[in-house]
Formats: sequence, C-alpha cells, structure tokens
Amino acid sequence: MEELLIVQLDASEMDNFSYLVYCPKTMQGAAVDPSMRPEVLLAEAERLGVHLNLLLNTHGHQDHVAGNPKILAQGNIKLAASPIDVENPDIPLAEGAKIPLGAGEIDVLHTPGHTPGSVVFKIGRNIITGDTLFVSRCGRADLPGSKVDDLYTSLLRLKKLPPETKVYPGHDYGPTPTSTIGWELQNNDFLKCPDLDSFIKLRLG
Ligand SMILES: [Zn+2]
Repeated sequence: MEELLIVQLDASEMDNFSYLVYCPKTMQGAAVDPSMRPEVLLAEAERLGVHLNLLLNTHGHQDHVAGNPKILAQGNIKLAASPIDVENPDIPLAEGAKIPLGAGEIDVLHTPGHTPGSVVFKIGRNIITGDTLFVSRCGRADLPGSKVDDLYTSLLRLKKLPPETKVYPGHDYGPTPTSTIGWELQNNDFLKCPDLDSFIKLRLG
C-alpha cells in the first residue's frame, strides 16, 4: 500500500482549510472540502502534476462544499461523501468505507455530532477531521442537525487513535495549523472532559 501525501491549503476568509491528497506513485489525487477557493486547490494540483479523480467532503456545510461545482466541472471526478449530509454523492460513504486512491487507500470513520453525516478521513497515520475536531477545540454542537452527545462519542473514538496520529482540521482555529492526537489529549479542553455532562456544559454552556 502506497503512502498518500496531504497538502493543506488556505481556503476561505472563514479560516477554512482545503486538502489535496495524492498518491506520489500514480499522481492520482483527491480534493477534500474545496470551500470558497477551489481555484487554489486546482492550481496546487496542476503545480504538482496531480490528476484529480475524486472529490471528498467531510460534511455538508456550505463553507466546506461551496467549491464542489468548480471541482466537478473539471470532468470525470467522482464525489464521495455521506448521503446523510450531501445529496446524491457518486460514492456514498458510511462507517468503515475504504476509498482507493492510486496505489493507496483512505479509510472512512463516521463521526456524527457536528452534523449527522460528518466523516473523518483516515490516511495512514493522519486524519482529516472536518469540523469534528480542531486544533485545541472541537466543532459546534448547537447548529441544526447537531447532536452534542454524538459529538462526544465521536471525539472519544478519535481520542483512542495512536497519539502520533496527525490531525488536519477543517478550520485554522488553533495555535498551529495541525497537531497530533497526543497534543490534543494534553491541550484540548473538550477532549479532557471526563464525562458527557462536563462536555455538554463546556460545549453548550
Ligand atoms: Zn461545519
């Protein structure tokens, strides 16, 4: 299995991150959450010589999917997302799905809470977390479709990943653009909550 590479890109005035994930062996690539600046993602793919054949969404919020049409207009690109959040994806994603990309593979974790169809993309020892987990923070749980107890359960799952797992969040809200699960366990107050009640107080209080 080839190791896939991840490029983090600044994608909006709202501190969104987009990602370009690609296989260095085949140069096949996936655009993740193209947000408001899909042209930045397309330019980076062109610069690196990456051929995009996939578009992935972590969830259905507009600031993450706004760039979808521009990416799909490139032609022959399949949209992979949870059908709970995103209408009619070519590749409907659910817990445990595996997305082949070039000579590598992306694992899908269904992590509801911020939205019912939120997913985390696990790429080797890296995770692209959308609005489920940020550096030093977590996603909102007070939006339509949010469920705070689901978010708590989803974060519990992420906490159990190996501490060296690198976190690539959906927004640049922390002191650094990326972190690790180990760093989050030490520094993220939302992950340090000992139980659901304290999490609800901190998240919604
Ligand atoms: Zn969101």
